[in-house]
Amino acid sequence: MRLFFVKDFLDLVFPRNCLLCGRSLYDHENNLCSICKGTLPVTSYHLRPTDNDLCDKVKGLSTVGMVMAYLKFTKGGNSQKLLHQLKYRNKPQLAKELGSLYGKILNENGYSKCWDVIVPVPLHPLKQSRRGYNQSEHFGLGLSEALSLKLENGIQRRKFTETQTQKSRLERMFNMDDVFEVSNYSTLSGKSILLVDDVMTTGATLCACANVLLGNGAKNVDLVTIAAGG
Ligand SMILES: [Zn+2]
Repeated sequence: MRLFFVKDFLDLVFPRNCLLCGRSLYDHENNLCSICKGTLPVTSYHLRPTDNDLCDKVKGLSTVGMVMAYLKFTKGGNSQKLLHQLKYRNKPQLAKELGSLYGKILNENGYSKCWDVIVPVPLHPLKQSRRGYNQSEHFGLGLSEALSLKLENGIQRRKFTETQTQKSRLERMFNMDDVFEVSNYSTLSGKSILLVDDVMTTGATLCACANVLLGNGAKNVDLVTIAAGG
């Protein structure tokens, strides 16, 4: 009985609301209400993982295999609102839940044996300390639980030497392959890797990471993001 009082008190002080519609959540709901969860713009990329518009986007940038995204990105839509929550509202548990939800879909569609390890795209250390967490890592953690796969923070941003920091932003953008490096060769070489990020826009960051993995002995690399398109 006392536990219920404590819970009611906590709900009063820290109300739990749906991050999309603001409605108060039932006990069994987390982050999102059942209605919002049921109306997320889920894509069907898992049905055509090697022949879709995201594959076209990365063509010529990297030799990855499958390319998929959980949600269709639309400006002002629910997927953009979720990405905004992840970026500016410190919501690692939301990122993880999105990973679990997509992991469940991938599991049901026979993807559980496709990969050896999940690797998230690393955040710039400055951004990570400002945000408090890497949303791609937490999305990956949700996927890793649902698919019973290990997650490895196997890529890191390279610390630039004096000469490299003198390069302009534009020069560095055209030379993305310089930005990342593999932090632990032995755990990733020969492995089938699922590389995960929050959103795919041009695909340049994901491809730079994929190329670093492939260049360091990864057997193959597939890409999954929380959202893409639009
Ligand atoms: Zn809602």
